[in-house]
Amino acid sequence: MVEHLLAKEKVASSNLVFRSKSFHKKLDMNEFPNQLDNNLKQFFILGNTALDASRKITKDVNFANSELKDDGSLLTKFDLSVEEKIFEILSESDADIITEEILEKKENKEFCWYVDPIDGTTSFSKGIPLFGTIIGLTHKDKPIMGFIDLPKLGDRYISINKYGCFLNKKLVKASELGNLNEAIISYGSPQRFAKENLIDQLRKIDDLAWDSRGYSDCFGYSLVFRGAIDLFIEADLNPWETVAIENLSLESGAGYAEKESINGKKNIIFGSKNLIEQTTDIFGGDWTIK
Ligand SMILES: [Mg+2]
Repeated sequence: MVEHLLAKEKVASSNLVFRSKSFHKKLDMNEFPNQLDNNLKQFFILGNTALDASRKITKDVNFANSELKDDGSLLTKFDLSVEEKIFEILSESDADIITEEILEKKENKEFCWYVDPIDGTTSFSKGIPLFGTIIGLTHKDKPIMGFIDLPKLGDRYISINKYGCFLNKKLVKASELGNLNEAIISYGSPQRFAKENLIDQLRKIDDLAWDSRGYSDCFGYSLVFRGAIDLFIEADLNPWETVAIENLSLESGAGYAEKESINGKKNIIFGSKNLIEQTTDIFGGDWTIK
């Protein structure tokens, strides 16, 4: 087991060096993001400014009253105030904006922001520090940037198309593990998988995995991008979650698969590229692997 661990570590560190070298040709981290082209630079700066504002509002909150929304999830006054602030900031760009709660700007622009002001509102409202803000950006419907900010942990993940995925400005890389029986996997609420009639398949994957943990929402997703866990499976997500997750996954070197859910949203699987196909095979159905 120890030899196995050492071998794994060696592979991971050699890959990291390789990725860093290739990355530095394109972008000097000390000048981040000055070497991005003007369009990307403006989006990068506005995305970061929006997350700074969001973090300022939520990071010291330890309890919030909530009400139930029609879809069964929770809403607090902070979801709305964060959304309003982010919307105001992102409105400075020449892009449409789609948000989880109320606000939207649809003018048929090439670029579109997708905003989940607080992902993990259940955790947020109860003082569990595993909530965050998710922002994604598309160009002609293709995800090109992803942001996840975890205010209580002080962690910010950013991915930029063809530039990589960063945790607090340091390049991170997803797992490349190939055997499910060595993998740590995580997934969202099994209740959602039951509604999708996928609970038996999820159970089978869980049985095959080395271990599983219920890391929730954007905190759980982020563990894939830095290779802390090998695979995440989530059911019935919205575009203000999936746009960012897709770009963060692909730019961290992870694989990403999606399939339409019963409600017309998306079931997604992301993590080590070498685990995606064996997982979609078990679930069955018409998955798109990216
Ligand atoms: Mg939310």
